[in-house]
Amino acid sequence: MKGLAMLKIGEIGWIEKDRPACGPRDAIVKPLALAPCTSDVHTVWEGAIGDRHNLILGHEALGIVDEVGSEVKDFKPGDRVIVPAITPDWETEAAQRGFPSQTGGPLGGWKFSNFKDGVFGDCFHVNLADYNLAHLPEGMSLEAGVMLPDMLSTGFMGAENANIQIGSTVAVLGIGPVGLCGVAGARLRGAGRIFAVGTRPASVRVAKEYGATDIISYKDGNTADQILDRTGGAGVDAVIIAGGGPDIMMDAINVAKPGSVISNINYFGSGLGDQDVIPLPRVGWGFGMADKNIMTGLCPGGRVRMERLAEVVMHGRMDPALMATHVFKGFDKLEEALLLMKDKPKDLIKPVVIV
Ligand code: NDP
Ligand code: ZN
Repeated sequence: MKGLAMLKIGEIGWIEKDRPACGPRDAIVKPLALAPCTSDVHTVWEGAIGDRHNLILGHEALGIVDEVGSEVKDFKPGDRVIVPAITPDWETEAAQRGFPSQTGGPLGGWKFSNFKDGVFGDCFHVNLADYNLAHLPEGMSLEAGVMLPDMLSTGFMGAENANIQIGSTVAVLGIGPVGLCGVAGARLRGAGRIFAVGTRPASVRVAKEYGATDIISYKDGNTADQILDRTGGAGVDAVIIAGGGPDIMMDAINVAKPGSVISNINYFGSGLGDQDVIPLPRVGWGFGMADKNIMTGLCPGGRVRMERLAEVVMHGRMDPALMATHVFKGFDKLEEALLLMKDKPKDLIKPVVIV
């Protein structure tokens, strides 16, 4: 089989590997639609999770089942499926405690393109198929569907973790595809006013479509000050962090009201060594006592999560296809799509490859 791999930090290339073996509860899937993630960029070009050699990249896919193990009940060859980015080991202790994305240690549910070959191959292996695949609904476009495995799941988690009440004021720091789903998630959770922070014109347009009421450019001055100004000094009830570097925590905490939640979904990948720290504002955080609480999370995976996200889309609650600004045709275009995700031109939200 052929795949687009991380050869080492800073280098990608096409490689050949043996077809993966299918265990009794597993599946082998061929891709239908694929999308690169900013996390692939952190992994390859920033070396954020350490070096990887000849590891096939990618964790966002729709596919066609090619083979299933003898114990798989609900899927068969030929089925069109949504493949979650996170594929937990559902029998583990962490899953039973309610944290399936962290099975086998922190971030352990994130297997594809972390410690197991990802989905940028002409076929790939899925563990526990009955738990980690979902049927692609009839009528869902590939451009929309491929946003479910990671973008919708992560962005919506940002809103779910933020304790948004009906009418809450929310700030979403960063409106790439993840933050845009944070905006859409905040609206679905009943937010009143939604501040969206970012500059790329394509993202600003979709942010308004997804429910942003105020657009803030972090390039026009301190973000927290701008939002405090517009709220008469009050700040916001919830913050979702989906972009920026380590200093973004300063903005998030400074703009949050006492009693708020700062919900981080950002991957602090850039320029951070193992010993580096992420600063928090001592005064803005009420000297550590202001009831400004930080939540974190890795994208939720698994079948039920994908089925619920599909319900959101199939019943017209939001249209993920608006984020597919660059649609490529053909598996060979994957490299171009990934490099586009790295370079992030102004008109880009998310590249998608229809295989
Ligand atoms: P993008 O790079 O497309 O978007 C980042 C956004 O942050 C842009 O809108 C950018 O603005 C904005 N931004 C940059 N600097 C600042 C700043 N100082 N203040 C406020 N906003 C700023 O990324 P993605 O949406 O693809 O991904 C976002 C993050 O989520 C990444 O770190 C990614 O790795 C992570 N991620 C985490 C997952 C999880 O499980 N927790 C899963 C998937 C992704 P501009 O418009 O100017 O470009
Ligand atoms: Zn991702």
